[in-house]
Amino acid sequence: MSHCDEDALALLALGEVVDSRDVAHAQECAECSARLEEYRAVVSVGRTVTPDDVPTAPPAEVWSAVTAEVARDRADAAVGADVVSLDSARSRRRRGGYVLAAAAAVVGLIAGSAVTASVINRPETVQMVASAQLDPIGDASLMGTAVVQRVGDTSQLKVTVPDLPNADGGYYEVWMATADTKNMVAIGNLNPGSTAVYTLPAGMDLASFPIVDVSLETYDGDAGHSATSVVRGTLNA
Ligand SMILES: [Zn+2]
Repeated sequence: MSHCDEDALALLALGEVVDSRDVAHAQECAECSARLEEYRAVVSVGRTVTPDDVPTAPPAEVWSAVTAEVARDRADAAVGADVVSLDSARSRRRRGGYVLAAAAAVVGLIAGSAVTASVINRPETVQMVASAQLDPIGDASLMGTAVVQRVGDTSQLKVTVPDLPNADGGYYEVWMATADTKNMVAIGNLNPGSTAVYTLPAGMDLASFPIVDVSLETYDGDAGHSATSVVRGTLNA
């Protein structure tokens, strides 16, 4: 028999019932089975793409088949108008239509997921909210900086104390405190040589807790402030 027509191959790729002669031919004919594989690749890409997927290019062979088909269609339209019979031009256009429809579906899905991915991965806007210079307390001749920034939906406190020495047998803790330092909230520990970034509790009110303090703590199991601060500053919005 002659080669399978495109409709039969497209239906076969979709798992639809087609004439058994087409099935048999597609299995034996290298050309038709190759085209069938292309359709299957399009179908499987179309079926596996979900909105959660990161952008994926269709298999190269699918893409080149699509572009070749489009090019052929264009050539027909340009040259074939008065050479090719109307019927055959129509059938060609229809064939191209199938491939294009499948390709458009894939491209649409990919574009859709690309948009989704770009929304998910959109770099969050970072907005400076307040900052403080951290001045030395007591004997420590340390300086540091504290910055509060809005990152997406959260507030982050970023603390740097560049020359913080190793805390022999202890550790450093970052606090936020009321202006009179009577009420102190432990934010997290700070390791020498690093900039720490803390996500602040959602209800943390900078106006009520404008002080940023770094204390030297010992492993004494006491969760309260040791009263040994090394740097402190007031956040200025
Ligand atoms: Zn064939």
